Amino acid sequence: MALFGKPKYTIVRLKKKDIPDGLWTKCEGCSEALYNKTLEENLKVCPNCNYHFVLGAYERINMLLDAGTFQEYDKDMFSDDPLEFKGPKTYVDKLAQDQNTTGLKEAAITGEGLLNNKSIIIAVTDSRFIMGSMGSVVGEKITRAIEAATKNKLPLIIVSGSGGGARMYEGMFSLMQMAKTSAALSYHHKEKLAFISVLTNPTMAGVMASFAGLGDIIIAEPKALIGFTGPRVIEQTIRQKLPSNFQRSEFLLEHGLIDMIVQRKDMKGMLSQLIDYLG
Ligand SMILES: [Zn+2]
Repeated sequence: MALFGKPKYTIVRLKKKDIPDGLWTKCEGCSEALYNKTLEENLKVCPNCNYHFVLGAYERINMLLDAGTFQEYDKDMFSDDPLEFKGPKTYVDKLAQDQNTTGLKEAAITGEGLLNNKSIIIAVTDSRFIMGSMGSVVGEKITRAIEAATKNKLPLIIVSGSGGGARMYEGMFSLMQMAKTSAALSYHHKEKLAFISVLTNPTMAGVMASFAGLGDIIIAEPKALIGFTGPRVIEQTIRQKLPSNFQRSEFLLEHGLIDMIVQRKDMKGMLSQLIDYLG
């Protein structure tokens, strides 16, 4: 008997120039070239290294809710430019660019639907739209979703994908959304209704420091970057080297900031169980 059996499959390493656009995606975790169809079927999780790719807001909603049950709220709400912000790019240009590339009007999608036949309210932030940052529209849409959950006595799920925190193109208006969303959640909490916060890669800054950090249960996807300030700024401030997995889900679970890490394929089942348990 041979000591080593024949490998069951061959890993083909493709050079970048050999990868036709739209067919393959290079894994950001292990650099393997992944066939897009396989990646889609695997809920955009790398089959080799379990790297969780970013999901768009509608992809996330389709993955979590029962097919055809999602009813979107405030679909046509879009951002104004209260400060007439001009930087390397104006706010108006940045909004137009991200609306174009994502097909979204804003970074948050909210609404109601069924999760394994249970009525829930859901809000999702999309990290592809100005880093999922919270401006007036994201704050207002999330607040209205929370208020709908309170009024209708429904559990609430917010899935955050927000690398940007508060949207500084809107200055003070964006910071006010932190207080507004948090206050709305306190009314939801007073009614003894469940709020489950799901943190995906990345959830940072003003989003993490407001609604995303306030879940009765806080769940994270594996290896998600979660925190307030980025590690480089913290290292410069405290003049100490940080551990390598600092601000990753696994480190934060060990240190008590989050309650559990759930693989993407198990997320719907886990949320369903938790909603049953919390009532
Ligand atoms: Zn991988």
